[in-house]
Amino acid sequence: MDETLDVPEGKDPKQYAEQQIKRFNDIEKERYGTKGNPRELVSIGEKTGVIFCVFKKVNNVTIIRNNNPYDILICSNCKIFIRRFGLNPTPTQIKCYPELTCNECNKVFKSQKRYDNHTKIKYHITPEWMPDGV
Ligand SMILES: [Zn+2]
Ligand SMILES: [Zn+2]
Repeated sequence: MDETLDVPEGKDPKQYAEQQIKRFNDIEKERYGTKGNPRELVSIGEKTGVIFCVFKKVNNVTIIRNNNPYDILICSNCKIFIRRFGLNPTPTQIKCYPELTCNECNKVFKSQKRYDNHTKIKYHITPEWMPDGV
């Protein structure tokens, strides 16, 4: 029978699964010796659930440019920056694709292929409104 294992955020799925399985098998062996039932890693799947960017404010003081006040927000997951103008609420429904995000250009690509093509270029263009030193 297949068992599933949830990988905590930020952990490498393969490494984590192997560690957990090893731990389980060690205990199993200690308890039951050769009569134990050791687990094996069968496959690593990806969760298909969509996750959304979680933004937090970067600047302490609201920036005003051309009479347009805004705050800069960063997603703690994919590290993309966005601007929140005026008194608009912080967006909560922006889909988060860390693996398709070029952080230098602050751009999210629509597919792995486009992202891969993009990473081959030498010159990335950082938007001028992004905070320095990122
Ligand atoms: Zn994100
Ligand atoms: Zn780029």
